[in-house]
Amino acid sequence: MVFYMYQCPRCGSSDLIDFGEIFECSICHLSFRKRFLDELEEDEILAEEEKKAFLDAFKDDVV
Ligand SMILES: [Zn+2]
Repeated sequence: MVFYMYQCPRCGSSDLIDFGEIFECSICHLSFRKRFLDELEEDEILAEEEKKAFLDAFKDDVV
């Protein structure tokens, strides 16, 4: 069993609040899906908040 210590992709802090599927960085207050950290490169990872902003912007473009 490998113990994987998650780190915030934004600030590199390991001071994270664990919510199961998601954790929240206590420094920059962004939440990330653990799955993304396992599967994606660091610069491809979007915080849940950033994804929502991205989708909202996309929606505005379409309308
Ligand atoms: Zn952070």
